[in-house]
Amino acid sequence: MFDDSESIITFVVAILIAYAVVLWLGSIVWTFRDISNRTHDGWAQSVSVLIVVVFSLPGLFLYLVLRPQETLSDIYERRLEAEALMRDMPQAQPTCPSCKQSVNSDYLVCPNCRTRLREACANCSRPLELGWAACPYCTAPGPSAGAGKSATTATSQPPRPATRQAPPPPRGTLIESKAPGTARRESESQPR
Ligand SMILES: [Zn+2]
Ligand SMILES: [Zn+2]
Repeated sequence: MFDDSESIITFVVAILIAYAVVLWLGSIVWTFRDISNRTHDGWAQSVSVLIVVVFSLPGLFLYLVLRPQETLSDIYERRLEAEALMRDMPQAQPTCPSCKQSVNSDYLVCPNCRTRLREACANCSRPLELGWAACPYCTAPGPSAGAGKSATTATSQPPRPATRQAPPPPRGTLIESKAPGTARRESESQPR
């Protein structure tokens, strides 16, 4: 009877020790993998693993408190997002060179200060940059083309009125309401 109970106790203790050893080894392996995902610094990796090797589970809790918050892939993704944001910003927000208000890329004039931003193409009336020598859509001479050239091409390409086809700027309604012509029209419509 005494031998039986002693062997049972030995068995249970052996299982507990084996369980603790497996837990200890597992936490060491897990810590090594986790710290490898968070830093390439060999010194930090060695210290983290050593803490768990020496202190076991309390060391693991200590490591969880002290480990770097972000993994390397988190940092990489954050950097990619920041770069994408930086790349998109100048294209998404073109501004007026005079008053710095944001404008659309197809505005002919700034709706805020009336600075000339683009020239409508004489042939297809699309908005052209002032520095362009030719219209990229219909190959007509652009705003910066020489005056002599435009005289020769004027015979081959009859100029159409650009103002008729030019799309009205969406934000221009605010400015137009201040213009004297529209103000008079508004005052005429007001009396009932
Ligand atoms: Zn402006
Ligand atoms: Zn054109």
